[in-house]
Amino acid sequence: MGGRRYWDEAVETMSADERRRDDNRDLAAQLAYCREESAFYRRRLAEAGVDPAAVRSVDDLAHLPFSTKDELRAEQVQHPPLGEYQCAPMKDIVRIHGTSGTTGRMLLTSMTAADAELVAECGARSLWSAGMRPDDVVFHVFNYSVYSGGVTDHLSAERLGAAVMPIGVGNSQAFVELAGQAKPTAVHSTPSYPLYLARKMRSEMGRDAHELGLRKGFFGGEPGAGIPAVQQQLRDELGLEPFDANYGLSEVISLFAAECDQRDGLHFFGQGAVIIELIQPETGKVVPLATGVEGEMVYTSINRQATPLIRYRSGDVVHIISDAPCGCGRTSFRFRVLGRSDDMLWVRGVNVFPRAVEQLMAAMRPLTTGNFQIIVPSPGALDHLDLRVEHGLDVAEADLAAVAQRLQAACSEHLRAPAQVTLVPPESLPVSERKTRRVIRTYLDEPVP
Ligand SMILES: [Zn+2]
Repeated sequence: MGGRRYWDEAVETMSADERRRDDNRDLAAQLAYCREESAFYRRRLAEAGVDPAAVRSVDDLAHLPFSTKDELRAEQVQHPPLGEYQCAPMKDIVRIHGTSGTTGRMLLTSMTAADAELVAECGARSLWSAGMRPDDVVFHVFNYSVYSGGVTDHLSAERLGAAVMPIGVGNSQAFVELAGQAKPTAVHSTPSYPLYLARKMRSEMGRDAHELGLRKGFFGGEPGAGIPAVQQQLRDELGLEPFDANYGLSEVISLFAAECDQRDGLHFFGQGAVIIELIQPETGKVVPLATGVEGEMVYTSINRQATPLIRYRSGDVVHIISDAPCGCGRTSFRFRVLGRSDDMLWVRGVNVFPRAVEQLMAAMRPLTTGNFQIIVPSPGALDHLDLRVEHGLDVAEADLAAVAQRLQAACSEHLRAPAQVTLVPPESLPVSERKTRRVIRTYLDEPVP
């Protein structure tokens, strides 16, 4: 890759000391702003007995109360439309997104023009790091609806200078036809989308996905892009090089982490927009963000005018790969997402993330296709993992029992959890153009597709 290495060299290579100095300054300013503009935060801080003026550094954040999606949603019910943690007047708001949760009502997140610029900057840093460049023609296949992955991530790629085509999900026929016309160099989507497209082209159109001419894939929204076996499948079926390029949260910053050319986990790119703390999910105790630790990410906005967040619990549990400067010259920490704390399954006293099962099933190719479901019959602790797994195309009927045995042994060895594997034919489980659902909670009356 020729040309410049960073989107914003000063920000991306800033020393830890300088970063901390800026974060401390920005945090004090954000808290003063929240106290001034938000009845919600004035109330919350008073209840916790905290004087925001006493918060002088990132370390003092631990004295402030957490916030959660449910609390903020309840706040918006009480004070519609955006809740009293909304700090900017509606005349200054330029975009509103929604993010769904376990209950029906959406949490709304808003941005002023300055917020939108900063969010686009974080996205552009991330996509640049993963290898997107201004001469790329990018087919953008996220959901152009209230979710931020559509419009907001589109605008990040546009800010970087790429030529972005708003394809959206549900338009596979158009994708194939337009590829012949517009000659895309890259796709920006979930990692399962191009595999879905390749399968559809093969079975319904009798065509080979290599003819799309895609050279790069920028992926997010699902764990697949970080899994070597999925990466290989993307190379084999489409001839593109996959990059783990899009991690973020709608209500925080839509896109603020991506890998670099060292390909050793996701770099944090939310500098100047958000401060990250790690906590133990069970106790809420702060875990120092350092090489090798695991914890739930907690977000505090800085330089945010509309809907700022203070100690917002994401539920995402991560492993810190390194907090030392990277071989690429960037100084931000690198991490790997282990899963959502509320997706975590307890199997005989061992916690299992669906993401880890996904990794294992992908690694067991060609015995499997990588596609599977976890059937969860009851809430709480499970006696074993109940897995439905597609066996590979070349697995003979006579070998099915032995393959199931091997997969069960692999679960015991790598996940430390007993499993009951039921094999099903290849391409018999649904894959989605959106997010493929892996966990089926039958006790919630979720149908087994
Ligand atoms: Zn790096």
